[in-house]
Amino acid sequence: MPTIRQLPTSVVNKIAAGEVIERPASVVKELMENSVDAGATRVDVTVEHGGSELVRISDNGCGIDEDQLKLSVSSHATSKIVDADDLFHVGTLGFRGEALASIAEVSQFRLRSRTPDSDAASEMYVNGGQLVEITPCGAAVGTSIEVRNLFFNTPVRKKFLRTTQTEFGHLSEAFTRIALAFPHVHFTLKHGARQIYDLPPSDNWRERLAAFFGDEIATHLIPIDNADETIRLSGYVADPKFNRANNKMQFLFLNGRHIRDRALQHALSEAYRGLLLTGRYPIAFLRLQMPPEMVDVNVHPTKLEVRFQDSGRIYSQLLGTLRTKFLSTDLTATYKPVE
Ligand code: ADP
Ligand code: MG
Repeated sequence: MPTIRQLPTSVVNKIAAGEVIERPASVVKELMENSVDAGATRVDVTVEHGGSELVRISDNGCGIDEDQLKLSVSSHATSKIVDADDLFHVGTLGFRGEALASIAEVSQFRLRSRTPDSDAASEMYVNGGQLVEITPCGAAVGTSIEVRNLFFNTPVRKKFLRTTQTEFGHLSEAFTRIALAFPHVHFTLKHGARQIYDLPPSDNWRERLAAFFGDEIATHLIPIDNADETIRLSGYVADPKFNRANNKMQFLFLNGRHIRDRALQHALSEAYRGLLLTGRYPIAFLRLQMPPEMVDVNVHPTKLEVRFQDSGRIYSQLLGTLRTKFLSTDLTATYKPVE
């Protein structure tokens, strides 16, 4: 007869890590999200070799108390929700308490942090899931995390990593999505000695879009803003003259979280029907804001997909808003200089 056994924590953590941490880009996504959740106004990302040798993220957020450091890398440990009810009103990007545990399990992980009420910082070193030491050190308020040699102790997974260039491409996309979602935060990205982005905080979303996609597209965006009692849809879509051969320039943010949603992508294509040639896709940067209880973000380990309580209504709101906008817009005259 087969025997049923409870798996040891290290195995459980490696399984969880497999769901959340696929490649260096996942590390960047999780750590940047934590910095945003910590209220940081500045987040610096430095990576080496496409992130597979090093990902370092420093923020000026609220920091972690020394006596909570160990807990921060335990699985299912979070400061963001308390009970099952909270699962249905998640107001932060994180809530599963899995990321740090997963990352620390499959890397050489150093976390340095200081809270505003403490006069010293502490540093914790975790090697492949084993806590090595916690020592006092000097540092400014905030948190800095270094992730070295990702997957050094899971060789099979390491083999799946692609070239530096490919990994950096994924990582840069992850960086872009978060930097787009939070224009009020100053983000920087360095790859080795090269400064890739330095994005000063801005009140104007168009400025952040221009930093990534260039002035030409940014100046030809049509602003969208439609709100009913509970749902606000805002952002920009591009003049149909500017379009793409794929849908990679369609960004949808739900309460600050980048998501993919086939139905909404379909609504977008429908809105542009007749305005684009077959095989061409619209450019869109859209933000949906709604009460957290109207959406379940707990359906996908990386939260890329969500489940709306009333997806039909959101579909119609998007399609209706865009159609009305196009009818009232002179599509040859959308030029707006970036201030
Ligand atoms: P989650 O984000 O789902 O809560 P994580 O494993 O990503 O889980 O992080 C665990 C906890 O560590 C967080 O709930 C938070 O309290 C703390 N934490 C992680 N990163 C930071 C950071 N950059 N600044 C402050 N606290 C952090
Ligand atoms: Mg997190």
